[in-house]
Amino acid sequence: MEHVRDVSELPKAHLHLHFTGSMRPSTLLDLADKYGVRLPDTLTDALAGGEPPRLRATDERGWFRFQRMYDAARSCLREPEDIQRLVREAAEEDVRDGSGWLEIQVDPTSYAPRLGGLIPALEIILDAVDTASRETGLGMRVLVAANRMKHPLDARTLARLAVRYRDRGIVGFGLSNDERRGMARDFDRAFHIAREGGLMSAPHGGELTGPSSVRDCLDDLHASRIGHGVRAAEDPRLLQRLADRQITCEVCPASNVALGVYEKPEDVPLRTLFEAGVPMALGADDPLLFGSRLAAQYEIARRHHAFTDAELAELARQSVRGSAAPDDVKRKLLAGVDDWLTAPGAEDGLRG
Ligand SMILES: [Zn+2]
Repeated sequence: MEHVRDVSELPKAHLHLHFTGSMRPSTLLDLADKYGVRLPDTLTDALAGGEPPRLRATDERGWFRFQRMYDAARSCLREPEDIQRLVREAAEEDVRDGSGWLEIQVDPTSYAPRLGGLIPALEIILDAVDTASRETGLGMRVLVAANRMKHPLDARTLARLAVRYRDRGIVGFGLSNDERRGMARDFDRAFHIAREGGLMSAPHGGELTGPSSVRDCLDDLHASRIGHGVRAAEDPRLLQRLADRQITCEVCPASNVALGVYEKPEDVPLRTLFEAGVPMALGADDPLLFGSRLAAQYEIARRHHAFTDAELAELARQSVRGSAAPDDVKRKLLAGVDDWLTAPGAEDGLRG
């Protein structure tokens, strides 16, 4: 009988998880029922399980379909108690998958109309994170993410707000949505405000477009972490730069396949980044839509890229080191990774 170390017991940090996208499918169905929202068929099909949707987001229509699904799900979050439930369940799911630290990202603008405005929305979210963290024991922080499809002035407003709420658990500033729209440089002022205010710069790049968008994140937004960044694999010099500066790429394999960035799990360049010395933090991105959560991403590395337990442990260490967790939390998680690896696994027995 083959048994190997359980990746859901491997301590790790989760650095790439979107707010609505973290919702349990059953919770979305409950909320849709509560508010009488009719979800689009594409979304209910995706929630029904089985094969994750193939959205072909690499063409703009596919990305639009993905956004429509996401918007429909978000429209079911209407009251503070819905937000509290979502965050609490996201924390529970993370704990189950061995996460000891979660950084969840949110654009509060999208929730503001139903929650009484931008500031009340952000406060409800931060309170929910604080409560969920206390109740589950999971360390949690928030990244505020601006939307690339909106005006750069909106991003500046958000950056100022994020800085103002830094002591309430905001650790970073992100930029999400379609990389093909607008330039990273358009958002440099917002990122400047965020960095000056002590927040980490963690924009999305190198997912839907190639290495140049990763370079833009480094040059124009002074990214210290990149959301996805996988397309850097197409440029060895860029990989070297990421490795030299130890810029963590928040790599989300299941998402990449669901959105058609890569055809198959084995096509996601995990090995290329790993061998180049680029630190990675595997993430689930939007488990609601992609059908798999955090531990499953490590399972992909094991199954489709032949990562050994020692290599999986190194991936987990990279996620912890790339996080904004305080040093004592990092030390504890890193010690837990060593314990996971030294505990006897059948692999040792089988392979000697
Ligand atoms: Zn993302």
